[in-house]
Amino acid sequence: METPENESFRDSIGTLTEEGNRKWVFPKKPSGKFYDYRKWVSYVLLAFFLSAPFIKINGNQFLMFNILERRFNIFGFPFWPQDFHLFVISMLIGVIFIALFTVAFGRIFCGWICPQTIFMEMVFRRIEYAIEGDRGAQMRLDRQDWNAEKIRKRGFKWFLFLVISFVIANVFLAFLIGSDKLLVYIAEGPVAHASTLLPLLIFTGVFYFVFAWFREQVCIIACPYGRLQGVLLDNKSIVVAYDHKRGEGENGRKKFRKNEDREALGFGDCIDCFQCVNVCPTGIDIRNGTQLECINCTACIDECDHIMESINLPKGLIRYASEENIEKKKKFEFTPRLKGYSAVLVILTGLLIGMLMLRNDVEARVLRLPGQLYEHKENNIISNVFTYKLINKTTKDIPEINFKLRGYKGVVKVVSAEDRFIVPMQGLAEGTMFIEIDQSELKSDKNKVMIEVYSDDELIETTSVNFLGPRSYN
Ligand code: SF4
Ligand code: SF4
Repeated sequence: METPENESFRDSIGTLTEEGNRKWVFPKKPSGKFYDYRKWVSYVLLAFFLSAPFIKINGNQFLMFNILERRFNIFGFPFWPQDFHLFVISMLIGVIFIALFTVAFGRIFCGWICPQTIFMEMVFRRIEYAIEGDRGAQMRLDRQDWNAEKIRKRGFKWFLFLVISFVIANVFLAFLIGSDKLLVYIAEGPVAHASTLLPLLIFTGVFYFVFAWFREQVCIIACPYGRLQGVLLDNKSIVVAYDHKRGEGENGRKKFRKNEDREALGFGDCIDCFQCVNVCPTGIDIRNGTQLECINCTACIDECDHIMESINLPKGLIRYASEENIEKKKKFEFTPRLKGYSAVLVILTGLLIGMLMLRNDVEARVLRLPGQLYEHKENNIISNVFTYKLINKTTKDIPEINFKLRGYKGVVKVVSAEDRFIVPMQGLAEGTMFIEIDQSELKSDKNKVMIEVYSDDELIETTSVNFLGPRSYN
């Protein structure tokens, strides 16, 4: 985006004083069309975030990221360590999806969907406005001594922030360890689960620190996605942008004066009222061009539209637009880069869907017992010993498990278990088995034998092993 000749704003970030201290941002309370839309989006997302760990599909938590036990549920699909490749593909799809969106629509994710923005702007900031008032009142309160009013307002605000941080920490924990476990822990009391209480308090402290103090700094200096903007955006990406052509005109900005023909005097439509700066939660001036700090929250669009309306000029001096759109009045274009990202996204999504459809609810692994070849038994029976492991990814016990051989006349003898056994839900069953086959059935010293796994009479999985026999056959 074209920028003014004085580019000194690029040397520092808007939330630092010249001495390098934090400049606290007191953004004006936004209002307008986009803010209303964002409020509705935030209600939906907050409801989703708060309920997702408690929603179940076929008994599986809708979203769960149990890193410690390496169990993940995405949209109700359970992923075991054995499904790690599927998990990686899902994550890749997520990353490419966000990259694709960023190339096309800039940081739309940051302004509308990111939990940091949703909680900061739509929960904590709104509580702040309700208790401390709008920008001016907040600045006055900040400057004034610690009198009864300031202690009451700040104390109440920080108390509410702490309570909400504690609630968020609990939900966050439900994503990590599972909501069932969390509810049991709550019912049994914190003393019985001190080892979980400690991380809960740490999470609460982190959320409180982020939303009460660190705030926009997360987006400006901590978020890796924010740092990627420089490589993802191009002059065709649609971002929240100031139309500098219209705003600056031939002779630059000028304060508004009634009955003045700005156009005839060559002034732009920007009346230098600074409302777009005052409303910005990251403390920047969007008129300087696209900046790393801008989270595309749209607050400046709404604010500038109010100003334009009040002086009878067309809205949209700040709007969603690309550099090309402003410079050359070109419409949105599906660029080769966008096509490339879309193609990769479609391929990966197809791959994931295919793999999910082919994935079994039960996984069987049968492996040769290390160091064992074969045993020649009476009546020309050749016996091999294997270990088996059956993983049940469902939320129901799988009963009456039994094995059969496909294409060979022989028997499977399970050691240390009943002939038929259960694989518990979300659990595994493992043990040792002998496979016995008549030597006359074998075609070589190494035979590929298919093993069928049945639950009662229903075939639920097949796997194969190499069955060894003597070298020479008559
Ligand atoms: S709100 Fe609009 S008119 Fe006011 S300074 Fe910002 S761009 Fe200019
Ligand atoms: S410049 Fe505008 S869109 Fe960007 S963060 Fe500030 S108010 Fe939000």
